[in-house]
Amino acid sequence: MTERTLAIVKPDGVIQKKVGEIIRRIERKGYDIIDIKMIQADEELLKAHYVELADRPFFPGLMHYMMEHPVVAIVVEGDNVVKGWRTLMGLTNPTEAAPGTIRGDFGRDWPGDEVRNVVHGSDSPENAQREIGLWFPELAK
Ligand code: GDP
Ligand code: MG
Repeated sequence: MTERTLAIVKPDGVIQKKVGEIIRRIERKGYDIIDIKMIQADEELLKAHYVELADRPFFPGLMHYMMEHPVVAIVVEGDNVVKGWRTLMGLTNPTEAAPGTIRGDFGRDWPGDEVRNVVHGSDSPENAQREIGLWFPELAK
């Protein structure tokens, strides 16, 4: 089924100059890029985006990490792309992510901090729609 997901190249991915490589992997898989932009996320956007994680102990660190540098937000479309993009990303923790996945290849152990995992991907079609609305309100018009 054709669907959309929200992919984000997080601050560490942009700083490591992996944007081109990540887009290459999206296109190599046959997915379509519907929209793309570089954006400096603010607290309001991130609190809405990560609303389910607000009570977690790592939340303040996550907010700080995501505001460290502009990110690249991408609306990706394709057959089963929500699940497929998460497969391309790999597991949340870069030390557990398989080689060949984006997080496995470019995620790093950062001293005392394992949040730096290069990319974001929506976890369900419903959340994808919600997140795309937050990051690309102009698409809904
Ligand atoms: P994702 O869907 O794989 O990105 O993982 P989650 O939705 O569970 O968490 C969102 C983001 O929060 C992750 O990508 C990490 O950057 C960060 N995160 C998740 N779990 C942990 C954790 O246990 N510790 C820390 N420090 N960060 C975490
Ligand atoms: Mg998630």
